[in-house]
Amino acid sequence: MKLSESVLIQGLRSIVGEANVLLGEQISDDFLKERRGRFSSQTMGVVMPGTAEEVSALVRFCKQNSLPIVPQGGNTGVCGAAVSVEDSVIVNLARLNQIRKVDATGFTMEAEAGCILANLQAAAKESNLYLPLSLGAEGTCQIGGNLSTNAGGVNVLRYGNARDLVLGLEVVLPNGDIWNGLNALRKNNTGYDLKNLFVGAEGTLGIITSVVLKLFPLPVHRSTVLIAMESVENAVELFSRTRKETSDFASSFELMSRVCVESAFQNIPDCKDFFDQPYPWYVLMELGDSTRDGISQQLSESFLESAFEDGIVIDAVLATSEKQSQEMWRLREAIVEAQLYEGKSIKNDVSVPLDCIAEFVEQSISTLESLIPGIRPFAYGHIGDGNIHLNLSQPRDMDGDEFFGRWHEVTDIVHEITDGLNGSFSAEHGIGLLKLREMTRYKSSVELELMRSLKMALDPDNIMNPGKVLPGSSH
Ligand SMILES: Cc1cc2nc3c(=O)[nH]c(=O)nc-3n(C[C@H](O)[C@H](O)[C@H](O)COP(=O)(O)OP(=O)(O)OC[C@H]3O[C@@H](n4cnc5c(N)ncnc54)[C@H](O)[C@@H]3O)c2cc1C
Repeated sequence: MKLSESVLIQGLRSIVGEANVLLGEQISDDFLKERRGRFSSQTMGVVMPGTAEEVSALVRFCKQNSLPIVPQGGNTGVCGAAVSVEDSVIVNLARLNQIRKVDATGFTMEAEAGCILANLQAAAKESNLYLPLSLGAEGTCQIGGNLSTNAGGVNVLRYGNARDLVLGLEVVLPNGDIWNGLNALRKNNTGYDLKNLFVGAEGTLGIITSVVLKLFPLPVHRSTVLIAMESVENAVELFSRTRKETSDFASSFELMSRVCVESAFQNIPDCKDFFDQPYPWYVLMELGDSTRDGISQQLSESFLESAFEDGIVIDAVLATSEKQSQEMWRLREAIVEAQLYEGKSIKNDVSVPLDCIAEFVEQSISTLESLIPGIRPFAYGHIGDGNIHLNLSQPRDMDGDEFFGRWHEVTDIVHEITDGLNGSFSAEHGIGLLKLREMTRYKSSVELELMRSLKMALDPDNIMNPGKVLPGSSH
């Protein structure tokens, strides 16, 4: 028998307490709206459990009553994966926010899934250690959300993405069982690697409640350099040299086109130009080390010298203080914000093999400019990972809604070119609701069937974030 909504709400309250079930006007837009404004939630309520046992009881209750669940972290995802479209219950993990242990000998950290990423970074730093996962949303996103999206960010080059940083997980499965896989071992070959099922699953296979993460030596010496260049080809060549000539000390290698930085100068007050003339492309590079005397600065100086001599670099500014380094990073981070002032924009998050980056950028921009004259491409991204965000701003003289109406036409072109270069249509943001069409188009039937089998095995009633990731998986 289907229970009435008020009885269901009573049931949820009995598990987590009345104050932790938000209803109606108690639910702010922070829980309901996706950051880019493309998706917003319909929900019976937002439930905020405080322990893994409460999560487990909630899941059992929802399963018994066929109530779909949307796990939610900081709701900073950009594909509509944490929004509720089927009147589901949003289970927000913010109250699971304890950092349990920082182990300075084993270089690990154990924490609950609702911890905000920036708080984990700070806790590692207090112990003179480093949690390298770093992204623009780090003050709001939660580690459970980071793992569920397999987040990337600015340090993937050296340290890998979220998947590479996790050693153990605790997960509440769709039947309510708690799987305790919270080990801190670097070596553990005991059957299937279950944790990797849940990393990048976007909450469709279970709710992550705790994590064990790898930590690293804190890079106390850093060298941040802003480099001006003529072409994307030169940026790729410089990247290859950086890896070879700096003992792989580079943690970030970020590409920005002139259009991007120009928009930041115009729209964001604290952004400034470091050169006395414009250049077509820029790279923001960072090297870091934890040696006693520090060798990053010396390494970047000597290697840039040879790149100058070979004509790969036109100009470069080495940050001489922490403040200047922050100003350079501010320029990179301001691009997303600056583009908001340029009207509507169609976003992409693709990756291609490194030797195809220049071809991808050139081919995409020229095809799109013929399709929509006046379209303004903002090309930037984590070039060392082959991950380019080719975001397209509307032509100045076009209506924003008319431009948005061409979303599929534009993304189809970018994704076709990406696919032709053996790339991926989603490098780091995931699928959610936004890229279901692409899953059907670019994933083989074998891959999709394998994913469906896994989903069916773990969640036969399809209560865990239905409709996301897998095409046709709505409740
Ligand atoms: C300004 C800005 C910059 C960004 N930069 C980057 C970037 O550089 N790299 C990058 O990869 N992403 C980036 N993102 C995207 C976003 O921040 C990441 O995807 C982030 O990892 C999402 O974390 P969250 O806690 O906000 O998750 P949410 O948005 O709340 O959820 C994302 C997905 O994870 C699931 N989920 C959340 N918590 C759990 C849990 N405990 N258990 C199971 N499933 C869960 C949700 O159901 C959903 O499917 C950026 C976003 C913004 C707004």
